[in-house]
Amino acid sequence: MRQRIAVVGGGPAGLAFARVLHRHGHPAAVLERDAAPGARPSGGTLDLHEGLGQSALDKAGLLAEFQALSRPEGQAMRILDPDGTVLRDWRPGPDDRANPEIDRGQLRDLLLGPLDVRWGQGVAKVVPGARDGVRVHFEDGRQETYDLVVGADGAWSRTRPAVSSVTPHYTGVTAIETSLADVDTRHPDLARLVGDGSLAVYGANRAIVAQRGSGGQVKAYAQFRAPLDWHTHLDLTDAEAVRSSLLTLFDGWAAPVLDLLRRGTAFVHRPLHVLPVSHTWTHVPGVTLLGDAAHLMPPLGAGANLALLEGAELAESLATGPADPDGAVRAFEERMWARAERWARITADGLERLVSPDPAAALAVFDQVQPSR
Ligand SMILES: Cc1cc2nc3c(=O)[nH]c(=O)nc-3n(C[C@H](O)[C@H](O)[C@H](O)COP(=O)(O)OP(=O)(O)OC[C@H]3O[C@@H](n4cnc5c(N)ncnc54)[C@H](O)[C@@H]3O)c2cc1C
Repeated sequence: MRQRIAVVGGGPAGLAFARVLHRHGHPAAVLERDAAPGARPSGGTLDLHEGLGQSALDKAGLLAEFQALSRPEGQAMRILDPDGTVLRDWRPGPDDRANPEIDRGQLRDLLLGPLDVRWGQGVAKVVPGARDGVRVHFEDGRQETYDLVVGADGAWSRTRPAVSSVTPHYTGVTAIETSLADVDTRHPDLARLVGDGSLAVYGANRAIVAQRGSGGQVKAYAQFRAPLDWHTHLDLTDAEAVRSSLLTLFDGWAAPVLDLLRRGTAFVHRPLHVLPVSHTWTHVPGVTLLGDAAHLMPPLGAGANLALLEGAELAESLATGPADPDGAVRAFEERMWARAERWARITADGLERLVSPDPAAALAVFDQVQPSR
Protein backbone atom coordinates (compact mmCIF):
# COMPACT_ATOMS: atom_id res chain seq x y z
CA MET A 1 0.00 0.00 0.00
CA ARG A 2 1.60 3.29 -1.07
CA GLN A 3 -1.23 5.66 -0.16
CA ARG A 4 -0.65 9.01 1.53
CA ILE A 5 -2.97 8.70 4.55
CA ALA A 6 -3.89 11.29 7.19
CA VAL A 7 -6.12 10.81 10.20
CA VAL A 8 -7.62 13.94 11.74
CA GLY A 9 -7.83 13.55 15.52
CA GLY A 10 -5.76 11.59 18.03
CA GLY A 11 -8.59 10.26 20.19
CA PRO A 12 -9.40 6.54 20.58
CA ALA A 13 -10.52 6.19 16.92
CA GLY A 14 -7.60 8.02 15.33
CA LEU A 15 -4.93 6.44 17.50
CA ALA A 16 -6.30 2.90 17.06
CA PHE A 17 -6.33 3.46 13.29
CA ALA A 18 -2.76 4.79 13.19
CA ARG A 19 -1.45 2.17 15.60
CA VAL A 20 -2.83 -0.80 13.67
CA LEU A 21 -1.55 0.65 10.37
CA HIS A 22 1.84 1.13 12.05
CA ARG A 23 1.79 -2.50 13.19
CA HIS A 24 1.39 -3.51 9.54
CA GLY A 25 4.28 -1.24 8.50
CA HIS A 26 2.24 1.61 7.01
CA PRO A 27 2.63 5.23 8.14
CA ALA A 28 -0.26 7.66 8.63
CA ALA A 29 -0.03 11.33 9.56
CA VAL A 30 -1.96 11.86 12.83
CA LEU A 31 -3.12 15.50 12.85
CA GLU A 32 -4.21 16.48 16.37
CA ARG A 33 -5.42 19.91 17.45
CA ASP A 34 -4.28 19.59 21.10
CA ALA A 35 -0.82 21.06 21.64
CA ALA A 36 0.42 18.01 23.61
CA PRO A 37 -0.91 14.71 25.06
CA GLY A 38 -1.71 16.32 28.44
CA ALA A 39 -2.93 19.67 27.09
CA ARG A 40 -6.50 19.01 28.36
CA PRO A 41 -7.63 16.90 31.33
CA SER A 42 -7.98 13.46 29.76
CA GLY A 43 -11.35 12.75 31.45
CA GLY A 44 -12.61 9.77 33.39
CA THR A 45 -12.52 6.04 32.99
CA LEU A 46 -13.70 3.84 30.10
CA ASP A 47 -14.90 0.25 30.20
CA LEU A 48 -13.60 -1.69 27.22
CA HIS A 49 -15.79 -4.59 26.17
CA GLU A 50 -14.71 -7.99 24.95
CA GLY A 51 -15.40 -8.12 21.20
CA LEU A 52 -15.34 -4.31 20.88
CA GLY A 53 -12.61 -2.15 22.47
CA GLN A 54 -10.62 -5.19 23.62
CA SER A 55 -10.76 -6.68 20.13
CA ALA A 56 -9.29 -3.43 18.76
CA LEU A 57 -6.42 -3.59 21.24
CA ASP A 58 -5.83 -7.18 20.21
CA LYS A 59 -5.54 -6.08 16.56
CA ALA A 60 -3.02 -3.47 17.72
CA GLY A 61 -1.02 -6.13 19.63
CA LEU A 62 -1.77 -4.34 22.90
CA LEU A 63 -4.20 -6.68 24.67
CA ALA A 64 -1.70 -8.02 27.21
CA GLU A 65 -0.54 -4.51 28.12
CA PHE A 66 -4.16 -3.42 28.45
CA GLN A 67 -4.91 -6.35 30.75
CA ALA A 68 -1.98 -5.43 32.97
CA LEU A 69 -3.15 -1.80 33.25
CA SER A 70 -6.92 -2.21 33.42
CA ARG A 71 -9.08 -2.62 36.50
CA PRO A 72 -11.49 -5.59 36.36
CA GLU A 73 -12.74 -4.64 39.84
CA GLY A 74 -13.92 -1.35 38.28
CA GLN A 75 -16.83 -3.29 36.73
CA ALA A 76 -18.55 -3.22 40.15
CA MET A 77 -21.89 -1.40 40.10
CA ARG A 78 -24.01 -0.10 42.96
CA ILE A 79 -27.43 1.48 42.50
CA LEU A 80 -29.16 3.57 45.15
CA ASP A 81 -32.45 5.37 45.24
CA PRO A 82 -32.38 9.06 46.08
CA ASP A 83 -32.96 8.42 49.80
CA GLY A 84 -29.79 6.31 49.89
CA THR A 85 -31.38 2.83 49.94
CA VAL A 86 -29.14 0.29 48.16
CA LEU A 87 -31.14 -1.32 45.32
CA ARG A 88 -28.37 -3.31 43.61
CA ASP A 89 -24.79 -4.02 44.64
CA TRP A 90 -22.95 -6.11 42.07
CA ARG A 91 -19.29 -7.09 42.12
CA PRO A 92 -17.44 -9.00 39.38
CA GLY A 93 -16.11 -12.47 40.04
CA PRO A 94 -12.33 -13.04 40.15
CA ASP A 95 -12.17 -14.12 36.49
CA ASP A 96 -14.67 -11.61 35.08
CA ARG A 97 -12.78 -9.54 32.50
CA ALA A 98 -15.69 -8.78 30.17
CA ASN A 99 -15.62 -4.98 30.65
CA PRO A 100 -12.60 -3.87 32.72
CA GLU A 101 -11.98 -0.16 33.19
CA ILE A 102 -9.00 1.91 32.09
CA ASP A 103 -8.30 5.62 32.54
CA ARG A 104 -8.55 7.59 29.32
CA GLY A 105 -5.04 8.94 29.79
CA GLN A 106 -3.62 5.43 30.23
CA LEU A 107 -5.43 4.25 27.10
CA ARG A 108 -4.10 7.20 25.10
CA ASP A 109 -0.52 6.55 26.24
CA LEU A 110 -0.87 2.85 25.47
CA LEU A 111 -2.02 3.60 21.91
CA LEU A 112 0.53 6.38 21.36
CA GLY A 113 3.54 4.10 21.92
CA PRO A 114 5.81 4.64 18.91
CA LEU A 115 3.38 6.87 16.96
CA ASP A 116 4.68 10.22 15.84
CA VAL A 117 1.57 12.38 16.35
CA ARG A 118 1.67 15.90 14.91
CA TRP A 119 0.39 17.89 17.91
CA GLY A 120 -1.02 21.40 17.59
CA GLN A 121 -2.28 20.77 14.03
CA GLY A 122 -5.93 21.87 14.09
CA VAL A 123 -7.72 21.08 10.83
CA ALA A 124 -10.19 23.69 9.57
CA LYS A 125 -11.69 21.75 6.64
CA VAL A 126 -11.20 18.83 4.29
CA VAL A 127 -11.89 19.28 0.59
CA PRO A 128 -12.08 16.20 -1.67
CA GLY A 129 -12.04 16.21 -5.45
CA ALA A 130 -8.72 17.92 -6.27
CA ARG A 131 -6.81 16.33 -9.16
CA ASP A 132 -3.90 15.35 -6.92
CA GLY A 133 -5.95 14.11 -3.93
CA VAL A 134 -7.87 15.38 -0.90
CA ARG A 135 -6.87 18.81 0.49
CA VAL A 136 -6.51 19.27 4.22
CA HIS A 137 -6.77 22.96 5.24
CA PHE A 138 -5.20 23.70 8.63
CA GLU A 139 -6.41 26.35 11.05
CA ASP A 140 -3.18 28.30 10.49
CA GLY A 141 -3.83 28.51 6.74
CA ARG A 142 -1.45 25.77 5.52
CA GLN A 143 -2.66 23.02 3.17
CA GLU A 144 -1.55 19.43 2.56
CA THR A 145 -2.78 16.80 0.12
CA TYR A 146 -3.47 13.12 0.82
CA ASP A 147 -4.95 10.11 -0.98
CA LEU A 148 -7.13 9.23 2.03
CA VAL A 149 -8.25 11.48 4.89
CA VAL A 150 -9.91 9.74 7.84
CA GLY A 151 -11.97 12.05 10.05
CA ALA A 152 -11.63 10.87 13.65
CA ASP A 153 -12.10 14.36 15.05
CA GLY A 154 -15.02 13.71 17.36
CA ALA A 155 -18.46 15.22 17.91
CA TRP A 156 -17.81 18.57 16.23
CA SER A 157 -15.77 17.09 13.37
CA ARG A 158 -14.35 19.47 10.78
CA THR A 159 -13.94 16.52 8.40
CA ARG A 160 -17.62 15.50 8.51
CA PRO A 161 -18.88 18.28 6.16
CA ALA A 162 -16.81 16.71 3.36
CA VAL A 163 -19.21 13.74 3.34
CA SER A 164 -22.37 14.79 5.21
CA SER A 165 -24.30 17.97 6.03
CA VAL A 166 -25.72 16.47 9.26
CA THR A 167 -24.83 18.12 12.59
CA PRO A 168 -25.36 16.88 16.19
CA HIS A 169 -28.57 17.78 18.03
CA TYR A 170 -29.21 18.15 21.76
CA THR A 171 -30.79 15.14 23.53
CA GLY A 172 -32.57 17.20 26.21
CA VAL A 173 -30.19 15.81 28.85
CA THR A 174 -27.27 17.75 30.33
CA ALA A 175 -24.45 16.32 32.43
CA ILE A 176 -22.22 18.29 34.77
CA GLU A 177 -18.99 16.54 35.64
CA THR A 178 -17.05 17.12 38.82
CA SER A 179 -13.91 15.46 40.22
CA LEU A 180 -12.64 14.27 43.58
CA ALA A 181 -8.95 13.41 43.99
CA ASP A 182 -7.33 10.94 46.36
CA VAL A 183 -10.67 9.80 47.80
CA ASP A 184 -9.25 6.95 49.91
CA THR A 185 -7.29 9.44 52.00
CA ARG A 186 -9.27 12.66 51.70
CA HIS A 187 -12.86 11.35 51.44
CA PRO A 188 -12.89 7.79 52.83
CA ASP A 189 -16.69 7.92 53.34
CA LEU A 190 -17.19 8.71 49.63
CA ALA A 191 -14.60 6.10 48.66
CA ARG A 192 -16.75 3.51 50.48
CA LEU A 193 -19.96 4.88 48.96
CA VAL A 194 -18.67 4.63 45.38
CA GLY A 195 -16.84 1.33 45.97
CA ASP A 196 -14.41 -0.11 43.40
CA GLY A 197 -16.47 0.75 40.33
CA SER A 198 -19.56 2.85 39.66
CA LEU A 199 -22.38 4.24 41.76
CA ALA A 200 -25.66 5.35 40.16
CA VAL A 201 -28.59 7.08 41.81
CA TYR A 202 -31.74 7.56 39.75
CA GLY A 203 -34.55 10.00 40.55
CA ALA A 204 -37.30 11.51 38.41
CA ASN A 205 -35.68 13.11 35.34
CA ARG A 206 -32.31 13.28 37.06
CA ALA A 207 -29.44 11.06 38.13
CA ILE A 208 -26.07 11.19 39.83
CA VAL A 209 -23.45 8.75 38.57
CA ALA A 210 -19.96 8.42 40.07
CA GLN A 211 -17.06 6.34 38.77
CA ARG A 212 -13.76 5.48 40.39
CA GLY A 213 -10.65 5.82 38.25
CA SER A 214 -7.11 4.79 39.07
CA GLY A 215 -5.15 6.45 41.89
CA GLY A 216 -8.19 7.24 44.03
CA GLN A 217 -9.75 9.59 41.49
CA VAL A 218 -13.57 9.81 41.29
CA LYS A 219 -15.59 11.55 38.58
CA ALA A 220 -19.20 12.34 39.42
CA TYR A 221 -21.84 13.34 36.88
CA ALA A 222 -25.07 15.13 37.75
CA GLN A 223 -27.47 14.47 34.87
CA PHE A 224 -30.82 16.12 34.33
CA ARG A 225 -33.40 16.98 31.70
CA ALA A 226 -33.31 20.66 30.84
CA PRO A 227 -33.53 22.97 27.83
CA LEU A 228 -30.17 23.71 26.22
CA ASP A 229 -30.24 27.27 27.56
CA TRP A 230 -31.08 26.22 31.17
CA HIS A 231 -28.00 28.09 32.45
CA THR A 232 -28.64 31.56 31.03
CA HIS A 233 -28.83 33.04 34.55
CA LEU A 234 -25.82 31.08 35.81
CA ASP A 235 -22.10 31.76 35.33
CA LEU A 236 -20.79 28.30 34.40
CA THR A 237 -17.24 29.38 35.24
CA ASP A 238 -18.26 30.09 38.85
CA ALA A 239 -17.86 26.71 40.61
CA GLU A 240 -19.73 27.80 43.74
CA ALA A 241 -22.69 29.07 41.70
CA VAL A 242 -22.84 25.78 39.74
CA ARG A 243 -22.56 23.73 42.94
CA SER A 244 -25.34 25.70 44.60
CA SER A 245 -27.58 25.37 41.54
CA LEU A 246 -27.02 21.57 41.49
CA LEU A 247 -27.70 21.24 45.22
CA THR A 248 -31.02 23.03 44.67
CA LEU A 249 -31.84 20.76 41.73
CA PHE A 250 -31.12 17.61 43.76
CA ASP A 251 -32.63 18.97 46.99
CA GLY A 252 -33.92 16.19 49.28
CA TRP A 253 -31.49 13.50 48.04
CA ALA A 254 -29.48 11.56 50.63
CA ALA A 255 -26.68 13.63 52.20
CA PRO A 256 -23.84 11.18 51.35
CA VAL A 257 -24.85 11.27 47.66
CA LEU A 258 -24.99 15.07 47.64
CA ASP A 259 -21.55 15.14 49.29
CA LEU A 260 -20.17 14.08 45.89
CA LEU A 261 -21.35 17.48 44.59
CA ARG A 262 -20.49 19.38 47.79
CA ARG A 263 -16.86 18.21 47.77
CA GLY A 264 -16.28 17.99 44.00
CA THR A 265 -14.10 20.52 42.19
CA ALA A 266 -14.01 21.91 38.64
CA PHE A 267 -17.53 21.56 37.28
CA VAL A 268 -17.56 20.80 33.53
CA HIS A 269 -20.76 21.44 31.56
CA ARG A 270 -21.56 18.63 29.11
CA PRO A 271 -24.87 19.01 27.29
CA LEU A 272 -25.37 15.63 25.61
CA HIS A 273 -25.60 15.85 21.83
CA VAL A 274 -26.11 13.03 19.33
CA LEU A 275 -26.12 12.42 15.59
CA PRO A 276 -29.22 10.76 14.06
CA VAL A 277 -29.51 7.06 14.95
CA SER A 278 -28.95 6.12 11.33
CA HIS A 279 -26.25 8.41 9.96
CA THR A 280 -24.94 7.32 6.57
CA TRP A 281 -23.67 9.24 3.56
CA THR A 282 -23.00 8.78 -0.12
CA HIS A 283 -19.46 7.44 -0.34
CA VAL A 284 -16.90 10.13 -1.19
CA PRO A 285 -13.62 8.72 -2.58
CA GLY A 286 -10.68 9.71 -0.39
CA VAL A 287 -12.60 10.68 2.78
CA THR A 288 -14.27 8.70 5.55
CA LEU A 289 -15.22 9.10 9.21
CA LEU A 290 -14.71 7.04 12.36
CA GLY A 291 -16.01 7.16 15.93
CA ASP A 292 -17.98 10.14 17.25
CA ALA A 293 -17.44 12.01 13.99
CA ALA A 294 -19.53 9.30 12.28
CA HIS A 295 -22.07 8.36 14.98
CA LEU A 296 -22.14 10.47 18.12
CA MET A 297 -24.38 8.73 20.68
CA PRO A 298 -25.26 9.08 24.39
CA PRO A 299 -22.33 8.20 26.68
CA LEU A 300 -23.52 4.78 27.79
CA GLY A 301 -20.40 2.71 27.43
CA ALA A 302 -20.31 2.21 23.65
CA GLY A 303 -18.71 5.28 22.00
CA ALA A 304 -15.05 4.71 22.77
CA ASN A 305 -15.43 0.97 22.18
CA LEU A 306 -16.85 1.51 18.70
CA ALA A 307 -14.28 4.23 17.96
CA LEU A 308 -11.41 1.87 18.81
CA LEU A 309 -12.83 -1.07 16.88
CA GLU A 310 -13.58 0.98 13.78
CA GLY A 311 -10.08 2.48 13.78
CA ALA A 312 -8.53 -0.97 14.07
CA GLU A 313 -10.81 -2.58 11.46
CA LEU A 314 -10.35 0.12 8.82
CA ALA A 315 -6.58 0.03 9.29
CA GLU A 316 -6.53 -3.76 9.05
CA SER A 317 -8.57 -3.87 5.87
CA LEU A 318 -6.45 -1.16 4.23
CA ALA A 319 -3.26 -2.93 5.25
CA THR A 320 -4.34 -6.40 4.18
CA GLY A 321 -6.34 -5.60 1.01
CA PRO A 322 -4.17 -2.97 -0.67
CA ALA A 323 -5.24 -3.72 -4.27
CA ASP A 324 -8.40 -1.63 -3.92
CA PRO A 325 -8.19 0.84 -1.02
CA ASP A 326 -11.36 2.67 -2.03
CA GLY A 327 -13.26 -0.64 -2.11
CA ALA A 328 -11.91 -1.44 1.35
CA VAL A 329 -13.18 1.92 2.67
CA ARG A 330 -16.62 1.41 1.09
CA ALA A 331 -16.98 -2.08 2.57
CA PHE A 332 -15.83 -0.78 5.96
CA GLU A 333 -18.39 2.05 5.90
CA GLU A 334 -21.25 -0.42 5.28
CA ARG A 335 -20.13 -2.52 8.26
CA MET A 336 -19.62 0.51 10.49
CA TRP A 337 -23.05 2.00 9.66
CA ALA A 338 -24.92 -1.21 10.43
CA ARG A 339 -23.16 -1.78 13.77
CA ALA A 340 -23.32 1.87 14.83
CA GLU A 341 -27.06 2.03 14.10
CA ARG A 342 -27.66 -0.91 16.46
CA TRP A 343 -25.68 0.77 19.25
CA ALA A 344 -27.20 4.18 18.60
CA ARG A 345 -30.67 2.66 19.12
CA ILE A 346 -29.61 0.87 22.30
CA THR A 347 -27.96 3.97 23.80
CA ALA A 348 -30.74 6.39 22.76
CA ASP A 349 -33.32 4.09 24.34
CA GLY A 350 -31.04 3.70 27.40
CA LEU A 351 -30.77 7.46 27.91
CA GLU A 352 -34.55 7.86 27.60
CA ARG A 353 -35.05 5.32 30.38
CA LEU A 354 -32.10 6.23 32.61
CA VAL A 355 -33.05 9.90 32.85
CA SER A 356 -36.82 9.57 32.84
CA PRO A 357 -39.85 10.52 34.94
CA ASP A 358 -39.93 6.93 36.23
CA PRO A 359 -36.78 5.86 38.16
CA ALA A 360 -37.98 2.22 38.04
CA ALA A 361 -37.30 2.33 34.29
CA ALA A 362 -33.62 2.98 35.04
CA LEU A 363 -33.39 -0.05 37.26
CA ALA A 364 -35.02 -2.16 34.55
CA VAL A 365 -32.27 -1.06 32.10
CA PHE A 366 -29.63 -2.27 34.52
CA ASP A 367 -31.39 -5.62 35.08
CA GLN A 368 -31.84 -6.08 31.33
CA VAL A 369 -28.23 -5.32 30.47
CA GLN A 370 -26.78 -7.41 33.31
CA PRO A 371 -29.35 -10.05 34.21
CA SER A 372 -26.69 -11.96 36.14
CA ARG A 373 -25.98 -9.06 38.50
C1 LIG B 1 -18.85 11.88 30.15
C2 LIG B 1 -18.59 10.82 29.11
C3 LIG B 1 -18.37 9.50 29.50
C4 LIG B 1 -18.15 8.50 28.55
N1 LIG B 1 -17.95 7.21 28.96
C5 LIG B 1 -17.73 6.24 28.03
C6 LIG B 1 -17.48 4.88 28.42
O1 LIG B 1 -17.45 4.52 29.61
N2 LIG B 1 -17.28 3.94 27.45
C7 LIG B 1 -17.29 4.29 26.12
O2 LIG B 1 -17.10 3.40 25.27
N3 LIG B 1 -17.51 5.56 25.72
C8 LIG B 1 -17.72 6.54 26.63
N4 LIG B 1 -17.93 7.83 26.23
C9 LIG B 1 -17.89 8.14 24.80
C10 LIG B 1 -16.46 8.30 24.32
O3 LIG B 1 -15.78 9.27 25.11
C11 LIG B 1 -16.42 8.73 22.87
O4 LIG B 1 -17.34 8.00 22.11
C12 LIG B 1 -15.01 8.52 22.30
O5 LIG B 1 -14.08 9.34 22.98
C13 LIG B 1 -14.98 8.82 20.81
O6 LIG B 1 -13.66 8.70 20.35
P1 LIG B 1 -13.23 9.48 19.04
O7 LIG B 1 -11.79 9.15 18.84
O8 LIG B 1 -14.20 9.23 17.96
O9 LIG B 1 -13.41 11.04 19.41
P2 LIG B 1 -12.74 11.90 20.56
O10 LIG B 1 -12.45 11.11 21.76
O11 LIG B 1 -13.61 13.11 20.70
O12 LIG B 1 -11.35 12.37 19.94
C14 LIG B 1 -11.31 13.31 18.90
C15 LIG B 1 -9.89 13.90 18.82
O13 LIG B 1 -9.85 14.78 17.71
C16 LIG B 1 -9.23 16.01 18.10
N5 LIG B 1 -9.79 17.05 17.23
C17 LIG B 1 -11.04 17.56 17.27
N6 LIG B 1 -11.21 18.46 16.30
C18 LIG B 1 -10.03 18.52 15.62
C19 LIG B 1 -9.59 19.26 14.50
N7 LIG B 1 -10.40 20.13 13.87
N8 LIG B 1 -8.32 19.09 14.06
C20 LIG B 1 -7.50 18.18 14.67
N9 LIG B 1 -7.86 17.45 15.75
C21 LIG B 1 -9.12 17.62 16.21
C22 LIG B 1 -9.60 16.17 19.57
O14 LIG B 1 -8.70 17.03 20.23
C23 LIG B 1 -9.52 14.73 20.06
O15 LIG B 1 -8.22 14.38 20.47
C24 LIG B 1 -18.15 8.83 27.17
C25 LIG B 1 -18.35 10.17 26.78
C26 LIG B 1 -18.56 11.16 27.74
C27 LIG B 1 -18.81 12.59 27.29
